[in-house]
Amino acid sequence: MQTLIEQWAEKISGLLGLGRVKVHLEGGSISFASPETNEIFIGKRQVRTTRDIIFLLGHEMTHLRQWRENPSILSIGVRPDYRAPLGMKPHEYRALPREQEADKVGLELTRTLNYKNKVLNKDGYSIFVHCMEYAPK
Ligand SMILES: [Zn+2]
Repeated sequence: MQTLIEQWAEKISGLLGLGRVKVHLEGGSISFASPETNEIFIGKRQVRTTRDIIFLLGHEMTHLRQWRENPSILSIGVRPDYRAPLGMKPHEYRALPREQEADKVGLELTRTLNYKNKVLNKDGYSIFVHCMEYAPK
């Protein structure tokens, strides 16, 4: 899975004009971008299929681009440390401007890139399905 992630990371960072982005695969169930170091951390539990990898990379790399080009979007609707307010529901989180933009880019990549969608981690839940389920209607 690591190699597959690295290959897609190179492709997607190029498409988004981000240069080289280092991507780390971790055991947990959260994924995030680290703008200070231009890195992405992918939580393995969120990945079920190839589509989840493409979606996650597009999503987190969009956050890197937001930090560079439009940092004010990152703080709309969240606490000063950029975390979600306590008790925020999944559909409220997905409606944040920064998340909507990142989900839109991730979704677009899952529609336009050429890939075979395979199950890579049968113990993972699909972050793609989660995000679509809670997307603003
Ligand atoms: Zn996000």
